[in-house]
Amino acid sequence: MASESYLGRPFTVDNDDALLRVGTALDTFVVGANGRPRSIPNGSKVEVRTVKAVPTGAKSVSLFVEVADTAGALIGWTSAGNLHGKFLSETLGEIPPPNGNRFGPNAAWSKGVFLGQVTLVRVVGTKGELEFIARDSSAPFVALCTAARAAGRSIGLNSGFRTFAEQQHLFDGHKRGLAGFNLAAAPGKSNHQSGIAFDLDVKPGDGNRDYEWLKGNATAHGFIRTVSSEPWHWEFLPAKAAAARQRGVFGTFM
Ligand SMILES: [Zn+2]
Repeated sequence: MASESYLGRPFTVDNDDALLRVGTALDTFVVGANGRPRSIPNGSKVEVRTVKAVPTGAKSVSLFVEVADTAGALIGWTSAGNLHGKFLSETLGEIPPPNGNRFGPNAAWSKGVFLGQVTLVRVVGTKGELEFIARDSSAPFVALCTAARAAGRSIGLNSGFRTFAEQQHLFDGHKRGLAGFNLAAAPGKSNHQSGIAFDLDVKPGDGNRDYEWLKGNATAHGFIRTVSSEPWHWEFLPAKAAAARQRGVFGTFM
């Protein structure tokens, strides 16, 4: 399911010290009869049943997962970081729009025009933070990540859907020349506010294997590069991506 990509998929425990936690008090470890904390053996195949994101900052969270063995028996809760892939780019459910404020968290904009409210989907970002994408592009994004994973690559998300306030913040930061602020469109005018733009965690330029994989495969999933100076910025534009694929290119500017 695109809004909860982890359901029905096997994961592998990838930590020698994957401690079990108490589900009702996730900062507490489960203690065995011998007085030692209990853990899940490294290499165990598990399925994730439930995810809890505990806020630790404005966007940052600690992620915990309740896992079962492949026969369906519940094992318990552990940190999502103990699973191979660290839960990168997994989707964690939908956020339906609240009441319609055009500057609210689900308000979509394009070219300075308020489009309406969109349902968002939570995504685990590159630094373990929560990012958001529009539900309409969540299935293609999950398909892209699944195909990348099958090819041994990994696609991280640094920035997806942005609120008006977030875009304002990025715009102001760049205007003031603050460190870490890239050129950003004026609030209301970024494609990150319409739900089609994805800043992926790929090192700029050729030679990076994740980027190379995207060059060859992203258009098959409807994603295409649209800003010649930003190799990380891809947009979900299925018609343009299909046309580019026909021509053997992966950008609208090529
Ligand atoms: Zn971007």
